[in-house]
Amino acid sequence: MSAAVDRGGAVRTDGVAGVDGATGAAATSSGVRRLRLLTPASLVELTAALSAVTAQSRFLAGGTDLVRSMQQDHWIPDLIVDLGDVAELHGIQATADDLRIGAATTFTDIASDPLVGRHATCLARAAAVVGSRQTRNMATIGGNIGNASPCGDSLAPLLALEARGVVLDSGGATCERPVAEILAGPGRTTLRHDEIITELVLPLLGDDWHSTYAKLGSRTMVSVARVGMAVVVRLDAAAETIVEARVGIGALGLTAFRAEGLEQVLTGSRVNQSTRDAFVAACPDVARQSIPGRYSLPYKQEAIRGVAWDAWEDLGLESVR
Ligand SMILES: Cc1cc2nc3c(=O)[nH]c(=O)nc-3n(C[C@H](O)[C@H](O)[C@H](O)COP(=O)(O)OP(=O)(O)OC[C@H]3O[C@@H](n4cnc5c(N)ncnc54)[C@H](O)[C@@H]3O)c2cc1C
Repeated sequence: MSAAVDRGGAVRTDGVAGVDGATGAAATSSGVRRLRLLTPASLVELTAALSAVTAQSRFLAGGTDLVRSMQQDHWIPDLIVDLGDVAELHGIQATADDLRIGAATTFTDIASDPLVGRHATCLARAAAVVGSRQTRNMATIGGNIGNASPCGDSLAPLLALEARGVVLDSGGATCERPVAEILAGPGRTTLRHDEIITELVLPLLGDDWHSTYAKLGSRTMVSVARVGMAVVVRLDAAAETIVEARVGIGALGLTAFRAEGLEQVLTGSRVNQSTRDAFVAACPDVARQSIPGRYSLPYKQEAIRGVAWDAWEDLGLESVR
């Protein structure tokens, strides 16, 4: 596929790209589909590019979802904005209060970053189990949110970590929005088409916090989650009682969500096997409330019990004190 590209905001509309199969309404008489591609190289140029974006446009981060959907659906966006050269969208840094992850940071980089491993262990664990090594080398955290699949592995951890997205619009304004408010349903976000996530902001967690991510994957779909669970807990000074708990669930319903019932089971409970058992036993109800009557409910009820058990064991709370 070739395309006309003007770096820095200008769009050449006479560029063409060869495409197999049906090409949609914008196909030329020769059967060749027009493709407009912008490659901004800074946030300023990205802001300019956003004013050219329509509801039929897409951002190209790692392309692992976008390219597959273009191939499968024989569909081409009216404009692709390639994020690869926008340096501000890449990288991870800590401030006094927050961990900041560029939206175009790959899961390989997130999984291996010591800051993420320390302050957002559940996100590091989730990043490490996304697809295959090749997928993790390309796939980005911003694309995982933009794609908004209920199975997106980063989503449950981001909810449990109470992460916020920094959103940039075509007027150059930025605001922070909780990831929970950005996710709207399967394949849907609340982002306007001229808005983009530039960064994820995660509050720094102290040493009294512990977190993990457990997942049951599919063997036939390169490990796409069948159930994913992020558990984030804060222990008291003696490391004997859970004083705060957050549980994010993925691949169980229309979008990732916080499981308040499970959080209540953990909050105020002693760190012992009775709490583990109560936590695991409460899981089937979460599945029943999330996908009532669904044919997969019995399977998911068993799956989430196993995932919860794995998450508890991986937290290793009983060996902390
Ligand atoms: C073989 C295979 C295995 C996979 N396995 C897994 C898995 O195990 N777990 C998992 O979670 N996912 C998996 N995926 C899905 C995919 O890799 C992830 O969803 C990935 O995070 C998408 O990121 P990307 O950078 O490739 O996004 P792209 O494909 O570039 O973009 C995806 C969508 O997000 C939008 N977007 C991109 N960046 C932003 C941004 N900064 N702000 C707003 N919108 C944006 C784009 O417009 C587009 O609509 C798999 C995919 C493949 C092909």
